[in-house]
Amino acid sequence: MALEVHQFPCLSDNYGYLLCDTASGAVAAVDTPDADEINRQLDAAGWRLTHILNTHHHYDHIGGNLTLKEKWGCEIVGPKGEASKIPGIDREVSDGDIVMLGEAKTRIIETPGHTLGHIIYHFADEKAAFVGDTIFAMGCGRLFEGTPEQMWRSLNIIADLPGDTKLYCAHEYTKANAAFALSVDQSNRALLLRAEQVNALRAKNLPTIPTTVDDERATNPFLRAGDDRLQASLGMPGAAPVEVFARTRALKDAF
Ligand code: ZN
Ligand code: FE
Repeated sequence: MALEVHQFPCLSDNYGYLLCDTASGAVAAVDTPDADEINRQLDAAGWRLTHILNTHHHYDHIGGNLTLKEKWGCEIVGPKGEASKIPGIDREVSDGDIVMLGEAKTRIIETPGHTLGHIIYHFADEKAAFVGDTIFAMGCGRLFEGTPEQMWRSLNIIADLPGDTKLYCAHEYTKANAAFALSVDQSNRALLLRAEQVNALRAKNLPTIPTTVDDERATNPFLRAGDDRLQASLGMPGAAPVEVFARTRALKDAF
């Protein structure tokens, strides 16, 4: 039993993901940023698309749904809270639901904040989570619909997954995120080291994704709102972490 993860860049800075349950041959696209590129990748791998797993309703995540469904007749799984905005949705899922991709099992976790209905797909047996636009390497999604309280809670659910869980984010934003992170968390050794590694990878046009829960706990300023040094750097010693998170998010929006 194994889940093969195939990752590829598309659009300007998105990652597409194809997941193959090798036991059954079931294949899922996590979001559909670019139907043509997804079809090329399927052809190259010799895979047939059976499922689409949508995380949220933004166009760079659902734009290819109908084209792919027409070609493959695949089942589209998406957030119940955004069902009216997920083209072609067949199965509406919410927190705690289990979806089987062949023999591979994924659990739905609701992570409101970037959008109100955003969900992520956690494959616990594979130590992998497909997190859409909720968390990025050293960053998090913009709060288009939700409140800081909602996003802070959502990010902490991800931070509480096992430390070696791989986080597959939907965008390559890491270099810019590292620059911002350094501006608020200058004295973080792990962050300084990671920023160097990221810059070296990006200079060779290599991906910095997936990241891991452990790496994010150590370097993501949006998870470190309770840290003394980060609070001091923002002039907010002793503040409630959710307030520090909200301030950090506002600073990033203007960075
Ligand atoms: Zn989005
Ligand atoms: Fe996006």
